[in-house]
Order: sequence, then C-alpha cells, then structure tokens
Amino acid sequence: MSSEPQKVIIIGSGPAGYTAAIYAARAGLKPVLYTGGEPGGQLTTTNDVENFPGYPDGINGPQMMMDLQKQAERFGTEIHYKVVTAVDLSSEPFQLTLDEKEVISAETIIIATGATAKYLGLPSEKKFANKGVSACAICDGYFYRGKEVAVVGAGDSAAEESTYLSKLCTKVHLLVRRGEMRASKIMQQRVLNTPNIEIHWNTETDEVLGDDSGVTGVRIINRETGEKKELSVQGFFLAIGHKPNTDIFKGQLDMDENGYIKVKPGTTHTNVEGVFAVGDAADKVYRQAITAAGTGCMGALDAEKYLAAKEAEVAH
Ligand code: NDP
Repeated sequence: MSSEPQKVIIIGSGPAGYTAAIYAARAGLKPVLYTGGEPGGQLTTTNDVENFPGYPDGINGPQMMMDLQKQAERFGTEIHYKVVTAVDLSSEPFQLTLDEKEVISAETIIIATGATAKYLGLPSEKKFANKGVSACAICDGYFYRGKEVAVVGAGDSAAEESTYLSKLCTKVHLLVRRGEMRASKIMQQRVLNTPNIEIHWNTETDEVLGDDSGVTGVRIINRETGEKKELSVQGFFLAIGHKPNTDIFKGQLDMDENGYIKVKPGTTHTNVEGVFAVGDAADKVYRQAITAAGTGCMGALDAEKYLAAKEAEVAH
C-alpha cells in the first residue's frame, strides 16, 4: 500500500467524476481519478449530445468526455485507467483496492460510478446500438421526430419516455411484457390518454430488424398466443430500468432497494463521513449529463469543506 493517503479520490469518469475533478483540482486538492472499466461513462455510448447547455450545435458524446478529461487534467487531476474493485470504508483513511491487487488509501472519496442501462440481451440490439437503438429517449428522441418508434418497458421510465416521444414521433408502440404496467397510476393514465401511443400487452421483443441505414422495424411476439408480428419503426428505445454501479459499496453505505446510494437531501454526503456520492450512482430520477455534472461540482465542494474542517480540528 502506498504510504500517504490521497486527499481526494474520485471513482468514475463520466460528467459527474470529471466535474468533481475539475473543482477539486482547482481547489488545490490534487485529486486522483480512477476511470473504471468504461472510461467516459455512458455518454461514450451516445452520438450527439444536444441538451448540454453551452453547445449550440450539439457535441459528440465521446468528444465531450475527452474535453472534460482534458479540462480536469489541465488543473492537475491525476487520471488512472484502473478499476476500483473493493473498498473498505470502516475506518479512516479509507482503503481502495485497484484491479484486485494494489491497495491505496484516501482521506475522502467521491463516488461517481454511474449506472448502466439494462438491455434485453438480443444480439440485434447491440448490432444497431446508436443506429436506432437507444436507452435514453430524452437524449436521442429528437433524432426520431416525425418517425415511428417502439419503447420496451412498463415502469415509470417507459411511461415517461413514451409520453415524451409521443410529442416528437408520429406513433409510439409501447411493448409491455405482462398484461399490466407497473408505472404509477397517473403516468399510466397519461399514456392511455395519448392517442398516438399504442400499447401492445403481453408482448416481448423477438428481434430488432434493420439494414445498413439502421433500425427499420421490430419483430414482436405475443406471449399468450405465440403470434409473431413485425412493426415498422425507425427507433427502438429500452426503458427497462438501470442498474447503479454500486456493488462494491454494498453493506458499507446506505442505499435504497435498487442500490442507489442515499445522500443527505441537498448535499452529496453519504452516511459515512468523508464519502460523497454524485451523479447517477445516487440519482434514479434525473439521470442527465448536466445534473450529474452539477452534483459532481457539489461533491468536490463538500469534500473540500470536509477536509478544511478536519484540518482546522487537527490544528486546535
Ligand atoms: P422499473 O424497474 O420500475 O421498471 C422496469 C420495467 O421494465 C418493468 O415494468 C419491467 O416489467 C420491465 N422489464 C424489465 N425487464 C424486461 C424485459 N426483459 N423485457 C420487457 N420488459 C422488461 O424501472 P424504471 O426505470 O421504470 O424506474 C426505476 C425507478 O425510477 C422507479 O422507482 C421509478 O418509480 C423511478 N422513476 C420515476 C420517475 C418519475 O417519477 N418521474 C421517472 C422514471 C423513473 P415487469 O413490470 O413485468 O417486471
């Protein structure tokens, strides 16, 4: 184990992690950031980001993440392409294991490990990723305006995303695997009251169809009758939930039943002092690049304040 604990370790390299790094570095805290297994995070799986303020012409997701990384490095953030595979938050300094071997320590940790959208697991989904298949209607819906799309799911996300898409698209096919939705009553009602959303009950996706231009349709199967049918759509949206990347903190940090880290409202403080959670790992509602960046900033400011208070305590 390296002898001196780092002041601030940031885990994760999406907009939340890099924004935390920019603020912590500018505060002179010499942050060290571990990128994790998917450097740049979820935005590297997107094409154009058109809703991040400040880019009137939009920006390519991977490019945006490279810019954020450069900005974090410019102020002295040390970036390592390693995965934090275990943590011990039971005493200070906290211990982190990198790539299952090296152990390092930190006075504060900012968790920015994000979340991963769930997919059905069909090979055709992968084949058409970014070519008509998306797990974020708010990010990508605009590209399908005037077109016909399908949404899979039956929770609040599926209800919200179908309603959102119904305002842009000519028609939305909502594919619900059971005979009922689990979305809240009010959101279901909104879906049922929208004339251009057609709900296909007891329906699963058999295959996403397409050619060189991208998605052209979806083959669905009725679970009760076994009947297969093709729908002509240009967009295929997954809304079957996200999984926060928080497994290594289980049993050490307070989480909700889905694994999202609980923070004190209006802050990034977890139940362990000196450990802060930012971005999608602690946000199941908004999940946007801009909100992740915002909480990343909050995390750095919270860590800075925590360290200053600790130093003041030692000085007395
Ligand atoms: P949920 O876990 O609530 O719902 C996932 C849905 O996807 C379920 O209906 C499930 O079906 C369906 N599903 C899962 N796997 C498959 C599959 N392989 N094939 C077809 N369908 C599948 O996830 P959400 O993202 O909707 O919501 C997560 C949390 O975030 C919830 O607590 C929700 O309330 C909250 N949220 C709140 C919002 C708001 O208040 N504005 C907006 C969005 C989310 P089944 O029902 O059959 O299990």
